[in-house]
Amino acid sequence: MTTFVDRVELHVAAGNGGHGCASVHREKFKPLGGPDGGNGGRGGDVVLVVDPDVTTLLDYHHSPHRKATNGRPGEGGNRSGADGGDLVLPVPDGTVVLDRNGGVLADMVGKGTTFVAGQGGRGGLGNAALASARRKAPGFALLGEPGETRDVVLELKTVADVALVGYPSAGKSSLISVLSAAKPKIADYPFTTLVPNLGVVTAGRSVFTVADVPGLIEGASEGRGLGLDFLRHVERCSVLVHVLDCATLESDRDPVSDLDVIEAELARYGGLEDRPRLVVLNKVDIPDGRELAEMVRPDLEERGFRVFEVSAVAHRGLDALAYALAGIVDEARAAAPVQEATRVVIRPKAVDDTGFTVTREGALFRVRGEKPERWVHQTDFNNDEAVGYLADRLNRLGVEDELLKAGAREGDGVAIGDEENAVVFDWEPTLSAGAEMLGRRGEDHRMEEQRPAAQRRLEREAERDETLGAYREFDPFEQ
Ligand code: GDP
Ligand code: MG
Repeated sequence: MTTFVDRVELHVAAGNGGHGCASVHREKFKPLGGPDGGNGGRGGDVVLVVDPDVTTLLDYHHSPHRKATNGRPGEGGNRSGADGGDLVLPVPDGTVVLDRNGGVLADMVGKGTTFVAGQGGRGGLGNAALASARRKAPGFALLGEPGETRDVVLELKTVADVALVGYPSAGKSSLISVLSAAKPKIADYPFTTLVPNLGVVTAGRSVFTVADVPGLIEGASEGRGLGLDFLRHVERCSVLVHVLDCATLESDRDPVSDLDVIEAELARYGGLEDRPRLVVLNKVDIPDGRELAEMVRPDLEERGFRVFEVSAVAHRGLDALAYALAGIVDEARAAAPVQEATRVVIRPKAVDDTGFTVTREGALFRVRGEKPERWVHQTDFNNDEAVGYLADRLNRLGVEDELLKAGAREGDGVAIGDEENAVVFDWEPTLSAGAEMLGRRGEDHRMEEQRPAAQRRLEREAERDETLGAYREFDPFEQ
């Protein structure tokens, strides 16, 4: 038995970037050469792509965790690691991607429409790429960035061309099964015993899909019935068919008032007003049914409906109905913009990577920003040189200045990143930030760049101790 699933939670993890490699060129009988560590490869993206051959979200219901391949690490000899492969997840036409709070991330309509649900992490630079005039032989490389992880909800609004609406037992399911080439799959709807059916109908050269909307009864649009869930399936249909039961034994019902009740439901749901409607008077194989159909027909035609008398059981009037539907569907398709060739690539809104913020949270200072957070992920904290490189980068971005402005002192906790995956460390300000704040004059920082790194570092350390000594004097709260 198959299950019809129209809403699934999907957890995607893009591939991690491969780590950069720290390596030094070696050749027999030759002095050590330059750095030759290659870059790590990019992690694979997780992308959703509309595939018209896919009609359900069932696969994701069964395995909701999907991960793309990681990038490979770089190697010596300037060999870059291979990129991770993108993970392509086919989804049905009409899939809506929502975030955890129900916000729409993408409305995927049209073959080939692509949504990048998780972006692969960048590969880390190898030490060859990190070498510069100042840093001739870096003894470290950058780590690959972790791939993006994201929880999304996929919702399928079946793109049915024709929607059958009507009271329970009016004959909607029967009609689909006799109209469509193949009998519709009977499926299990996850939260009701009702079954929305889909059928593919061929009439002449036209091929179109028909969906029924089971359980649409009075009160459904206020959540009392179950039809509301099913109306989602037909939001994009191009024609609505009222299936009216001409042989019901319920004394308080007749085809015309049934139609009014269903119309009231549709009106309350909203958004379907512009769709053309047809009326099917079903069960005319039963003599009483035929009589009733004949009786109400003029009434309905007067209200502007095209009326078809059919019998799903006796297969009567089906061709005329199928061709009439094909005509309307073809017309609607001709009027609609071409969906075939579209290839939209949607990326979730990019994070603003221009700046960063520093906020104080009690004794902790939190730094948020795309760059600082990325740099932290790229840092191998077991390697002092790598940590020094991170400190330089943060300093150049102005993070240290902002920390000082926010009141941070040496030894205070600084967290880079959000609560869940922050890197927290005790702050050791490098000198240039502190120096500016304290108004150190008479030294040109540009000169500093020209002295050897090791010397600069020693000087910096010495000066830092001095400067921080000065700080302590100014701080009345220092114990
Ligand atoms: P749905 O609830 O609208 O999907 O209705 P179904 O297709 O399940 O049909 C409900 C009942 O009506 C079933 O017992 C069908 O056999 C019966 N039925 C459907 N169409 C016809 C018809 O044209 N003639 C007769 N006599 N019975 C029908
Ligand atoms: Mg049914």
